[in-house]
Amino acid sequence: MKILHISAECYPIAKVGGLADVVGALPKYQNNQEISSQVVMPFYDNAFTQNNRFITIYTAKLDLGNQSFSFEIKTLNNKKLGFEIFFVAIPELLFTDYVYSTDDTDRFLAFQIAVLDWMLSLKNKPTIVHCHDHHIGLIPFMMTQSVKYKKLQHIPTVLTIHNAQYQGWFSYDKLSLIPKFDMANAGLLDWDQQINPLATAIKCAWRVTTVSPSYMEELKKEANGLESLLQHESAKCVGVLNGIDTDVWNPETDPYIEKNYKISSVQSGKKANKNYLCKRFNLDNKKPLFVFIGRLVGEKGAELLPKTFNLIIQENKSSILLLGSGNREVEKELETLKEKYKGNYNAFIGYDEKLSHIMYAGADFLLMPSRVEPCGLNQMYALRYGSIPVVRNIGGLKDTVIDIDNKGFGIVHQNVSVSDMVYAIKRAEELYINIAKFKKVRNSIMKINHSWDTSAKTYINLYKTLNR
Ligand code: ADP
Repeated sequence: MKILHISAECYPIAKVGGLADVVGALPKYQNNQEISSQVVMPFYDNAFTQNNRFITIYTAKLDLGNQSFSFEIKTLNNKKLGFEIFFVAIPELLFTDYVYSTDDTDRFLAFQIAVLDWMLSLKNKPTIVHCHDHHIGLIPFMMTQSVKYKKLQHIPTVLTIHNAQYQGWFSYDKLSLIPKFDMANAGLLDWDQQINPLATAIKCAWRVTTVSPSYMEELKKEANGLESLLQHESAKCVGVLNGIDTDVWNPETDPYIEKNYKISSVQSGKKANKNYLCKRFNLDNKKPLFVFIGRLVGEKGAELLPKTFNLIIQENKSSILLLGSGNREVEKELETLKEKYKGNYNAFIGYDEKLSHIMYAGADFLLMPSRVEPCGLNQMYALRYGSIPVVRNIGGLKDTVIDIDNKGFGIVHQNVSVSDMVYAIKRAEELYINIAKFKKVRNSIMKINHSWDTSAKTYINLYKTLNR
């Protein structure tokens, strides 16, 4: 079986969030299980493309409405990633220093058309096409409806929804950009009088997965307008919990962190990383260190953070460090707190992969008060690095974190509210001063196995049901 994953992001090439981590790991674990799993993504203008060498394997022109663009399919000239990777290079559209912006409709439509044009030319075509999120949402439609891609219509497609908040909506003004199809089937593109690539993919893909079982159930009740569609299509939908890449996320070998450690050396290992953070960010290393890492958006409960931090820091029992960017107002509020609470609180507004690793390693607790959490990888990284998750009971957090009062190992709160968050942090502070219990919990979480092995197998079994 040959699986082709199509995605806008893939770690370590281009990462905005968890999508990249998944697409950079799942194919590697699938290859270990004796199927051939490949990735195709855009060729962006970034550090990875500047610092690696590529080979061009295919050159052609694509039509986007009445415009024509030259494109190339490139591949890496080494096998470092653990899976074969292909890049679509469209100099005028995709060679950008960003992954997402306001011109995404044209860019990702051209990307999808280029992928299908290239696929048509392949002798050895993929057995399954696996599409990730709305940027790739029109592939299952074009493969079954566009006249040009008739030869691909028998290839099964799988859609994985990493985040249903974003759906890639665009207006009918751009309908002519989609390669010719029978207009009698135009309804497949429509949701609420707009073209909605995520809805289209849910309708046209052979199977739909979400990145955790709880998220699948939650989407049937709240999916930014797609609830009834997901209920209607539920027979082909299933939730498969994401895993983590335990080669990349391993405190024993992680090259980014200050000191490597394993369970037997967790005390000194975490201390060295915590000391580094406390020194760099002027924090008190005697207090428990709470960290937040993530996009500063409503889904992550980011607007709760400034108020919560205010209340917690006033009690002077904890240190807090935040890494993230997003909503400008929230960023400003979090910046303002820095002056007010010097020595107890700090924030790095921006994106920093290395710092995130040190924070998972040096933290005592990780905060995730998410409003919506399709899977959440941060809590799984925190577990592996011995940082206790303090999370809201939602989506993938519900599937991966059990409260200490329920014979579990984390701190779980029910509501997205400042009071719930403050109460959860106070429970964590109490746990921290109960040294024996704290250490026991910390050791136990490092043993939890969230590697991709199990879920990679679940996906392979799903592919097998389609490849009869
Ligand atoms: P998302 O909804 O953002 O995809 P996930 O929990 O699935 O959330 O994945 C988030 C990923 O992005 C994790 O690998 C996390 O460490 C990383 N991340 C998020 N924000 C930042 C940041 N500001 N700097 C570095 N890494 C970040």
